Amino acid sequence: MKFDYLIVGAGYAGCVMAERITSELGKKVLIVDKRDHIAGNAYDYYDEAGLLVHKYGPHIFHTSSKKVWDYLSQYTEWNPYVHHVKAVVEGKLVPVPFNLNSLYTVFPPDFAQKLENKLIGYYGFGLKIPILKMRETDDADIKFLAEYIYKNVFLGYTIKQWGLKPDELDYTVTSRVPVFISRDDRYFQDTYQGIPKYGYTEMFKKIIANKNIRILLKTDYKEIIDDIKFDKIIYSGPIDYFFDYSHGELPYRSLKFSLVNFDMEQFQSGAQINYPNNHDYTRITEFKHLTMQNHHRTTVAYEYPQPYVIGENDPYYPIPRAENDEIYKKYAADAEKLKNVIFVGRLADYKYYNMDQIVGVTLQKFEKSIAHLR
Ligand code: FAD
Ligand code: UDP
Repeated sequence: MKFDYLIVGAGYAGCVMAERITSELGKKVLIVDKRDHIAGNAYDYYDEAGLLVHKYGPHIFHTSSKKVWDYLSQYTEWNPYVHHVKAVVEGKLVPVPFNLNSLYTVFPPDFAQKLENKLIGYYGFGLKIPILKMRETDDADIKFLAEYIYKNVFLGYTIKQWGLKPDELDYTVTSRVPVFISRDDRYFQDTYQGIPKYGYTEMFKKIIANKNIRILLKTDYKEIIDDIKFDKIIYSGPIDYFFDYSHGELPYRSLKFSLVNFDMEQFQSGAQINYPNNHDYTRITEFKHLTMQNHHRTTVAYEYPQPYVIGENDPYYPIPRAENDEIYKKYAADAEKLKNVIFVGRLADYKYYNMDQIVGVTLQKFEKSIAHLR
């Protein structure tokens, strides 16, 4: 059988492309994934106790793009879940992103009030300030607060998560969780937030439910590429692997997930608790809060960051910093020269994309590079 497109990777990038190509162009595609399931890192499944869990860490959907929300909403209904996170600081549970409410959990009320007034006067209500920016202030009170937040919320967590200090990473990494001059405790302020009502994997099954899409699992595309006929490739795996590491390895960060089931209704007060300062894990997530499942037991995930080692674990995070971008640019230049291969995905683009971003980028890439074949 001949395919029009060979798609490498059954995550968002691969499956959304497959859907677009088959629905819009009526072409035939083969999706190949080396894992034994679809949905990429968003994969969820029912564990032995019957709880719906996320295999590769907690996945919370949020977007301000109506286009992306409407696109996915064709394939799922949503649980109206809004994410809240607390971090353990000096033994107390502190709302993160650090905001005006957080002040009152760690400081005496009068002092917290003074800092609140200062922050509102200095920055204005409703502003978001990246911690590295806040540390540059010359106001003594704000400098004190910035150092407190940096030391207690960011430093330990970032060293655990990345093996690097915040200022050794691109500014955008810690800016994902800015100090928020607000009473808004939500982790994200996006217009649309939720968790697919029947899970991510069910949503993916619907995205690729087209007779012109074939799936081959448990197969690295390099094992079969010479044995199948196709015209073009869509590649969503690591870009350095595609080019046989010709410019050297791109660094990634990996994680070990430890999923533990407990004989209790509820393990912790909310979906996610961060541990910036103690323990080897960065965070514990209790899935029931996300899935809204009723069950007499509960499962939580502990996340232990790890260096990425080829062949031993998975490359979960590109590591955003200038020296890595330099390596990526060399691969991107090679990719540009290949007219029959389209690169798209968190690992193929070496970008720290959230789910909504990768859906948006994939839809755009389809429109730009493929839709004209209609
Ligand atoms: P992936 O989902 O990684 O899919 C790529 C697929 O390609 C994989 O299935 C892989 O097996 C396959 N593949 C790779 N190489 C080969 C090969 N040689 N041959 C065959 N198959 C191959 N985003 C959010 O919006 N909210 C969250 O809460 C969130 N939490 C996250 C938590 C963690 C721990 C991680 C790691 C990511 C999180 N994300 C979150 C990001 C989200 O997972 C990604 O944005 C999204 O999965 C990227 O989709 P993708 O298709 O680019 O890549
Ligand atoms: N971060 C931190 N402490 C926290 C939360 C986040 O230091 O309590 C930093 C850390 O460097 C982390 C980054 O902010 O990697 C981005 O956090 P986010 O929650 O967006 O990470 P993700 O969910 O993508 O792993």
